[in-house]
Amino acid sequence: SGVVRFEEVRFAYNPDRPILKGVSFEVPAGRTVAVVGPSGAGKSTISRLLFRFYEPQSGRILIDGQDIAGVQQDSLRAAIGMVPQDTVLFNDTIGYNIRYGRWEASEAEVREAARLAQIDRFIAGLPEGYDTPVGERGLKLSGGEKQRVAIARTILKGPPILVLDEATSALDSFTEREIQDALDRVSRGRTTLVIAHRLSTVVGADEIIVLDRGVIVERGDHAALLARG
Ligand code: ADP
Ligand code: ADP
Repeated sequence: SGVVRFEEVRFAYNPDRPILKGVSFEVPAGRTVAVVGPSGAGKSTISRLLFRFYEPQSGRILIDGQDIAGVQQDSLRAAIGMVPQDTVLFNDTIGYNIRYGRWEASEAEVREAARLAQIDRFIAGLPEGYDTPVGERGLKLSGGEKQRVAIARTILKGPPILVLDEATSALDSFTEREIQDALDRVSRGRTTLVIAHRLSTVVGADEIIVLDRGVIVERGDHAALLARG
């Protein structure tokens, strides 16, 4: 389960300026579809519509065949894990930040999530371990460490659907590669929508959709898109 489907979705923040002009695509269960395109193309708008921060003007968005127009935002948050570009951590401990949204998780589960996100050794090296305060008043984490916390949180939550919105674009290229590896592991077997501005970061996607000014201008796998230039 976890099929995501956009059907002829049209959307505008302001009526006189259409942002999505009839966008249709499907992310089959367990597959990865990437939406790429220039800044301002409407990529992030797709993820905001999926969480119902906004409603389409026309068309439908379906999850497992159900129109999300009738689904509570809380249910969508439970079903969809999100790793954003810049993770803002809560002003609390690193453990709180990993457990966020799944408070009933055992310590063993938290540690396993941290291990899969490859932040377990970093945490083990801190004098206060999982009880280390982070955020504005706590230990300042690097961009890559923050993304690993977000990834650990998502692993722990275990949602069937994943949205990665420019999740590595704020990182240097070395860190980007490491975080990309962690993201590849999390997305395996989950229905994943990747939003990216560069084709090179979505090589493994089952389908790549190129969005330009609210219109899908190309689609195919990485090799096919490269061949077409
Ligand atoms: P992308 O993710 O491809 O860079 P976005 O989906 O963020 O593009 O934005 C698409 C267009 O919508 C941009 O021109 C942006 O300026 C505009 N936009 C985004 N959010 C808002 C908003 N809240 N109100 C008005 N315009 C917006
Ligand atoms: P966006 O970046 O568009 O605001 P979300 O709010 O859906 O995306 O999620 C961003 C991150 O914050 C995710 O890791 C998510 O698990 C977490 N999160 C979920 N609910 C909340 C909330 N009520 N307040 C703050 N962060 C939340």
